[in-house]
Amino acid sequence: MKELVPTPPPILQNRHAEVRELFQRHVVPSYGRFDLALSHGAGSQVWDVSGKRYLDLGGGIAVCSLGHAHPEITETLVEQSRRLVHVSNLYYNEPQGRLAYELSRRIAPGKVFFCNSGAEANEGLYKVARKFGHDEGRFEILTAVNSFHGRTLGGISATGQDKVKKGFEPMVPGFRHIPFNDLDAAREALSPATVAILIEGIQGEGGITPASAEYLLGLRRLCDEKRLLLLVDAVQCGHFRSGRFQSFQRVLEGVPGGEAFVPDGVSMAKSLGGGFPIGAFWLREEVHGVKLCDILGPGTHGTTFGGTPLGCAVALKILEVIERDRLADNVRQTGEYLRSAIGELADRHPGVVKGARGLGFMLGIELGEASQVRAFAAADKAPSLVFVNRLHEAGVLTIPSGNQIVRLLPALNLPRSQAEEGMAIIERVVASLA
Ligand SMILES: *Cc1c(COP(=O)(O)O)cnc(C)c1O
Repeated sequence: MKELVPTPPPILQNRHAEVRELFQRHVVPSYGRFDLALSHGAGSQVWDVSGKRYLDLGGGIAVCSLGHAHPEITETLVEQSRRLVHVSNLYYNEPQGRLAYELSRRIAPGKVFFCNSGAEANEGLYKVARKFGHDEGRFEILTAVNSFHGRTLGGISATGQDKVKKGFEPMVPGFRHIPFNDLDAAREALSPATVAILIEGIQGEGGITPASAEYLLGLRRLCDEKRLLLLVDAVQCGHFRSGRFQSFQRVLEGVPGGEAFVPDGVSMAKSLGGGFPIGAFWLREEVHGVKLCDILGPGTHGTTFGGTPLGCAVALKILEVIERDRLADNVRQTGEYLRSAIGELADRHPGVVKGARGLGFMLGIELGEASQVRAFAAADKAPSLVFVNRLHEAGVLTIPSGNQIVRLLPALNLPRSQAEEGMAIIERVVASLA
């Protein structure tokens, strides 16, 4: 990656080198980082320590829902922190209660538990599933091949990708993987111990694959028939990224029976706090004759930082801004523009770009095979990394997903003009590779 980044001017080069050196000495090297040291941002623009500007179409991996340094988030952080940052869950606090209501009313009647990350939200769902099946001896959760559910031990056990498990075996028992979007495979995989099926509404790390309407409705029927919980990991695809609050709402729009679809649990994080760390899971009020939303009674689950007044105040403000500024409409319209622009790129440069994937602001650029593009074939890394590095040089941030796909996960308030600017730069990079 290093050789592809332009050399900053000498004085600033020192700061870049200094930051990198701090990391090399003191930060656990568990991430494959790009050689950029970012310093500040505004909306969907971000600057590195040398003063170079980038258009941020990665949104901090689907986190910065209102972009960088949004003035209303700053104001909320300041105002709420003057009053109360943290009190613990030994007491009530109003922002947590209000946020739970605001999240629930956008899904279906139910209740919400707050935590700090996506992996932790999913851990809560695993515990809910185990508690639900406990007295019948059922504990097994089916998850999808190519899924991603986080990096805790439970998370890598649930994740349907070998690369996250490698070296950390033995896995937590009770997870098996089934092919995504394959209803027959789900039915055939059931065992007497199966208690739940967990899927992403749109697979993110696995390469931007939305669940089909038939799959969602079919899984719901299967879960109803076999007394299973249907759990949705909406950590990446949720929070209006699809153009609706939840991606299943978008996928099922206009589909007969679609409006009645309700999962039994939904995990959230990423965009929920716009960069302030907060996670949550929602539980349905009642399913299979059980009051699921009350299954975790006092003492059964908890976390110190869950649902602080500060985190919840920020999340409430984000929801308010998204609705006030009609950002779901922006995601649909600008997302449609981006998707068709990527499609046109594929028409013009079919060797480099194979096509567009995804919905709304969860989009994938599918790249051509390494054998068809000289720069890809010559590199010692995956085409997605080569492409992302070229885009860095050209001033655009994007996120690789596997070897062949580059993701766009921009802020929900990305203006059309910046989407156009981004596509013009992407087109130049694609043309240079063709
Ligand atoms: C990012 C992600 C997670 C993990 O979230 P963390 O906050 O990193 O723990 C889980 N599931 C999906 C679908 C994700 O995209």
